[in-house]
Amino acid sequence: MAFTLPTDIENRPVAVIGAGTLGRRIALMFTTQGGLVRIFDKSPKAGDAARAYLDENMAPVAARTEGGKPGRVVITDDMPDALADAWLVVEAVPERLDLKKEIFGELDREAAPDAILASNSSSYATSEFIDRVQHPERVLNMHFYMPPVQNAIDIMSDGHTDPAIMDLLKARLPRYGVHPFEAHKESTGFIFNRIWAAIKREALSVVAEGVSTPQDVDEMWKINMGTPAGPFRMMDQVGLDVVLDIENHYAAENPALPAGPRELLKKYVDAGHLGVKTGQGFYTHDTPS
Ligand code: NAD
Repeated sequence: MAFTLPTDIENRPVAVIGAGTLGRRIALMFTTQGGLVRIFDKSPKAGDAARAYLDENMAPVAARTEGGKPGRVVITDDMPDALADAWLVVEAVPERLDLKKEIFGELDREAAPDAILASNSSSYATSEFIDRVQHPERVLNMHFYMPPVQNAIDIMSDGHTDPAIMDLLKARLPRYGVHPFEAHKESTGFIFNRIWAAIKREALSVVAEGVSTPQDVDEMWKINMGTPAGPFRMMDQVGLDVVLDIENHYAAENPALPAGPRELLKKYVDAGHLGVKTGQGFYTHDTPS
């Protein structure tokens, strides 16, 4: 059966798979036009933290979105409940290829036949995890950065994605305060993320080699670039385990990359210092999430 684009989008929910750092933020953006978002996560702790985050942020973020009004969020540990009648499903589970393959097989079986299935993976092309998917024409990468603050999105075909999906998303997503840009060929790290990976790697090298400290690098960055945070504070926000997973993936593709950045990250991860989510990373944070 050929894929047909979803209709009646206005009245159908969006489903987000994973309630972690990104899942709850992606859900937040899709609530800004008053609609229903359902989040599926196996972990009740992650669900509770996502609920607290959304309760705090839904009203203010909707208020600053054009035509916005806060919607509703349902958090469930049952995947079919989350998927029921969703027009768009965004996967945001940890960056592990085996997990992504399993989840996409399930999503393709369980979601509505016209649902668009998107992955928020930072470093894997969706072409790498569609082997259990019957309808690859409805699958794509839809990579968010750090909404509601960094609101650009990369979108990228899995090699089979119906081009009408790209057009639909380019037209539709800006209403939720997020802005898609299409990678026109397959690219590990998409567009902006690839550039950001090189910046993180070199910042980590400078510290791993003992040339400078995270705090000094961030201060120089802020003074010269005019941004409120430098690369180390931003890595703490992302989660150092996630940053390490991503860098491991780039290194698997390109063995010539230096090991120092990965070794430095691993020291923090092994000590349980994952950044904002544990309260300690390159910095100490007051509010672990
Ligand atoms: P995270 O570890 O904060 O959250 C992942 C969530 O998935 C957890 O709440 C976990 O309980 C849940 N989960 C695990 N297995 C599951 C399963 N089988 N079914 C349902 N839920 C499950 O991770 P994150 O930082 O939100 O990253 C998620 C994805 O988003 C990754 O692919 C990552 O590359 C990507 N991403 C992360 C960032 C970032 O800044 N953290 C930015 C862009 C993209």
